[in-house]
Amino acid sequence: MTVAQVIDGVALSKQLRQQISDRVSQLKQQGITPGLAVLLVGDNAASQVYVRNKIKACEDTGFKSVLEQYPATLTEAELLQRVQALNQDLSIHGILVQLPLPEHIDGQKVIEAISPAKDVDGFHVASAGALMVGQPGFWPCTPYGCMKMLESIGYALRGKHAVVIGRSNIVGKPMALMLLQQHATVTICHSATADLGHMTRQADVLIAAVGKQNLVTADMVKPGAVVIDVGMNRNAEGKLCGDVDYEGVKHVAGWITPVPGGVGPMTITMLLMNTLEAAEHELPHA
Ligand code: NAP
Repeated sequence: MTVAQVIDGVALSKQLRQQISDRVSQLKQQGITPGLAVLLVGDNAASQVYVRNKIKACEDTGFKSVLEQYPATLTEAELLQRVQALNQDLSIHGILVQLPLPEHIDGQKVIEAISPAKDVDGFHVASAGALMVGQPGFWPCTPYGCMKMLESIGYALRGKHAVVIGRSNIVGKPMALMLLQQHATVTICHSATADLGHMTRQADVLIAAVGKQNLVTADMVKPGAVVIDVGMNRNAEGKLCGDVDYEGVKHVAGWITPVPGGVGPMTITMLLMNTLEAAEHELPHA
């Protein structure tokens, strides 16, 4: 029985982070240390893990990182003030506000307060607009990481049919736009899609970004397809798993990303890449 080739997000991240680290060293020689500020409000356990991983990745690649942790009682006005101060701080090139925020804070309002030049998460409406019209700007890290994974296997998207399951502003929609920019024919599926399997079976590239364990099963996949699993779920044993039934689908797909060890590490790598590029804009020729 044939088995799909694995697109290893850990190995690819390691390679890319080495390149990032080399570019950071070059920047430092020119007097610039890329700086990322991460703002965390409240005590969401998952957010604390994500933030810790981001800070560690910064340290490992030579970035300056600043973690600002606030209690859930922080007001929206206070958070906006912190964002404004970081917008002015010349040692900070990227600002990341960890989501979700407590209910009394309007997350979108806070994201819009970040200077687009420091919007390394790519969630600002200016970044979304730039992606929409094909202008330079920061791409959201998770779909950006998926594009890097496709690039790493030399996959030519022109003329291929890409199906994206999920239409969130941070994954599904930007993912679809990036694939479109590379000349794929794109279908976006969501919770109201009538016959999901009918759509996914047509996919040369299938991206699952939903948050439902085993949503994508072997019978829903075209033989030889590239399957990228963005989902992050916990199974009955509490283990991390994606949206794709990996054990079944690996016998049909041509390429597959595992969970863990697939898109997750790539997301952080692309955050580093965006922050590095924000810092490189300071160079005279940039
Ligand atoms: P989200 O905002 O909850 O969006 C989920 C999308 O899935 C929605 O568009 C929803 O459709 C669609 N959906 C729900 N049930 C469906 C079904 N039965 N069939 C087809 N579509 C369905 O989630 P998200 O923020 O995009 O994240 C998606 C997943 O990726 C989550 O598991 C998240 O944890 C994971 N994630 C991973 C990373 C990473 O670094 N690996 C980063 C970000 C997110 P409607 O729009 O119609 O509701």
